[in-house]
Amino acid sequence: MSEAQFQLLRGAGFVAAVALAVLLQRLGPHARLRGSWQVNGTLWFANLIVIGLVCGACACTVARWAAGARFGVLNAVAVPRWFAIATTLVALDLVSYGWHRANHRIPFLWRFHQVHHSDPTFTASTGVRFHPGELLLSLPVRLTAVALVGASAEAVVLFEVVFTVANLLEHSDIDLPLRFERTLGRVGITPALHRRHHTKLGPDRDSNFGTIFSTWDRLLGTYLGNDSATAIETGLPGFDKLTLPRALVLPLQRTAA
Ligand SMILES: [Zn+2]
Repeated sequence: MSEAQFQLLRGAGFVAAVALAVLLQRLGPHARLRGSWQVNGTLWFANLIVIGLVCGACACTVARWAAGARFGVLNAVAVPRWFAIATTLVALDLVSYGWHRANHRIPFLWRFHQVHHSDPTFTASTGVRFHPGELLLSLPVRLTAVALVGASAEAVVLFEVVFTVANLLEHSDIDLPLRFERTLGRVGITPALHRRHHTKLGPDRDSNFGTIFSTWDRLLGTYLGNDSATAIETGLPGFDKLTLPRALVLPLQRTAA
């Protein structure tokens, strides 16, 4: 797979994820929130340019290099293609869980990650509200994981598309049918589970760190249940009216509680 094909597939996955999230927010809204789309959309656009310039398809480049150099676990063993793809999906989601948890635990990383949590609303656009610094800091972690796993470029692009869909949907203002939600929550992160991670007050923020699978939270003691019927106040205390310039300089200033 070429870098251009990688970017095209990832871009198509993002457009599909946005369309699905917007549709589901219309069909089954939770709190009918309008969303901080001006700040969030601008951050998304800034990140598109910054990350595009620094690392357009570098995950693909690293995967191709690892395959050529026979570097990484999956390049060193003979396993069926489907098994390698499934292993990549699981391994990269686990790395994402660990990185997200580190963002809450390590004060320096929280300075950037708090921008994501500072959204007083919880809608699909919250899923693209990230400080460019957080995404830049995550790059070495993600690329090292791709190399060590020995992930193929096709497995990485599949992971990125699934991850993007999961990320946008779990940030969306969506109510799911209760029984379906309970079943889905056994293996995956639902909007209600992630909404609890965005709780404004209290220790609930240190829960439900997963993006695709809820398994890591269940296994590692950070799982807290939640359902669509429960209303949760989201955001960060004192950051309800954060403008874009303030969001950008926030890592240099005080840290939210
Ligand atoms: Zn978080």
